[in-house]
Amino acid sequence: MNLLVSRECQAEDSIVRVGEIAFGDGSFPVIAGPCSVESEEQLMACAEVIAESGGALLRGGAFKPRTSPYEFQGLGEEGLRLLVLARERFGLGVVTEVMAESEIAMVASYADLLQVGARNMQNYPLLRALGKCGKPVLLKRGLSATLKEWMMAAEYILANGNPDVILCERGIRSFDSHTRNVLDIASVPAMQEMTHLPVVVDPSHATGRRSLIAPLAKASLAVGADGLLVECHPNPDKAWSDGAQSLDLNQFRDMMAMLPSRILKS
Ligand code: PEP
Ligand code: MN
Repeated sequence: MNLLVSRECQAEDSIVRVGEIAFGDGSFPVIAGPCSVESEEQLMACAEVIAESGGALLRGGAFKPRTSPYEFQGLGEEGLRLLVLARERFGLGVVTEVMAESEIAMVASYADLLQVGARNMQNYPLLRALGKCGKPVLLKRGLSATLKEWMMAAEYILANGNPDVILCERGIRSFDSHTRNVLDIASVPAMQEMTHLPVVVDPSHATGRRSLIAPLAKASLAVGADGLLVECHPNPDKAWSDGAQSLDLNQFRDMMAMLPSRILKS
């Protein structure tokens, strides 16, 4: 049986639209924003610079899958309200993580693109329910997921009725702690050979180090990725989560200036 996600089932690339932004049409939309939504001031500062410099969508976690249960877990629905406020002010569609099946309807009522985090890539009840959520889904690769497992996770969403899935390579576990994870850049063309779904790269979670984000953004573009996801923050050293891998807003501007503007948006 041919999988719905496979090239055998559909030879041509899928184009996944999030409002006016298209993934998979040869453009290179950049999703950017803080790891966690912390405050109105923090989020608006990010959104303003992202909109000005050609970013496509605003990300920000309101429900955070933190390694320790004692760390900041996100602002919850208040964070979602702030994301919507930023969308109204700056015209950027909103990307945010949904962690639980029971929260899909609520998160989907605010977000334009629902993120499934690496830790939930094989949460099958969540994936099945996202098949019926009526919104596009950004499916991150699991921390130690093979490409086959990642494809099968996407298959759950398509098989349950939702064709709008964007895959996100965010690095995998390996032996060297110099970087937080190892960016499997080969997974981009390898997945694109096997599946018609768009594949974007997240160099922030892949490396955990802000100095490596711009070079790997270039590598992602060169290897044919369908877009990028990066974390940025007005004051990364004070960030409530993932500060070490967040660009400050000047660094974000510089990274955007380095990418060819003709392909940023379609
Ligand atoms: C995130 O995007 O902030 C996040 C938690 O990512 P991941 O699931 O890839 O670790
Ligand atoms: Mn993060």
